[in-house]
Amino acid sequence: MIFEGLSDKLQGALDKLKSKGKLTEKDVKDAMREVKLALLEADVNFKVVKDFIKKVQERCVGQEVMQSLTPAQHVIKIVNEELTSLMGDVASKIVISPKPPTIIMMVGLQGAGKTTTSGKLGGYFKKQGKKPLLVACDVYRPAAIKQLQVVGEKLDIPVFNMGDKESPVNIAKAGLSHAIKNNNDLVIIDTAGRLHIDEALMDELKSIKSEVKPHEILLVVDSMTGQDAVNVAESFNETLGVDGVILTKLDGDTRGGAALSIRAVTQKPIKFIGMGEKLDDLEPFHPDRMASRILG
Ligand code: GDP
Repeated sequence: MIFEGLSDKLQGALDKLKSKGKLTEKDVKDAMREVKLALLEADVNFKVVKDFIKKVQERCVGQEVMQSLTPAQHVIKIVNEELTSLMGDVASKIVISPKPPTIIMMVGLQGAGKTTTSGKLGGYFKKQGKKPLLVACDVYRPAAIKQLQVVGEKLDIPVFNMGDKESPVNIAKAGLSHAIKNNNDLVIIDTAGRLHIDEALMDELKSIKSEVKPHEILLVVDSMTGQDAVNVAESFNETLGVDGVILTKLDGDTRGGAALSIRAVTQKPIKFIGMGEKLDDLEPFHPDRMASRILG
């Protein structure tokens, strides 16, 4: 189960309150200490944890909670609300351009799941009646183009490529023209990643951005990398500017640190989550549902 470690610990801390009936301020503080440890162990950003605990604690020691007949339920409700708010409150959708094609640029480090997710996203929108085109701009990673073609074939979505000799900027521009000619109303550009963030990568992404003017730049990050994912998101956002995040490999993430920190640290919403290797393992992200899932 995703975020299993975090769920167990949070539920453990809150269950103790349930057995108490009326609560004292000390009971709440003790529980919050456990919640804090659970969040830190889950690799949630330190400052995010501090702010979160402060907010929850302030709300919990209020008259209304302490004097209610079911104070533990109140505390759980507050934790749930604050977790939801931490992850962005409401689901954030991809903005579809009123003038097609909508252009989505996928960015991220190598191995994060960019190519797979480009396909998944194409499949998601195809099911909604769109006519996507995948554009293969990852000319550096061996087999990335072939991989996108295989994904496209499986989903019956066309893939535009110019091999690996042309520059990614030219491929992106030509892909866009191809989409307009062929009535594709959604263009998903799979850009190149690197093992680490470097200037050459960022310069290339900036050039693609300024040439094709994407409606959405989506950053793909691997949730299992915890705070590293958050740092990557901060860097990409500062240097390139991103509109949203897709968090992959949540199916294998027992901790949850990236999911709980990224929005608070970068102010950018998580738009989708990757829940497996199969091409339909992509879900829109709902902060409220995720909070309830964590609290069980
Ligand atoms: P890229 O280098 O960023 O383009 O990464 P790939 O798309 O090649 O993905 C790297 C690996 O992660 C592949 O083995 C994918 O099957 C796997 N992967 C991608 N997304 C998910 C996901 O949501 N869950 C799981 N379990 N694996 C994923």
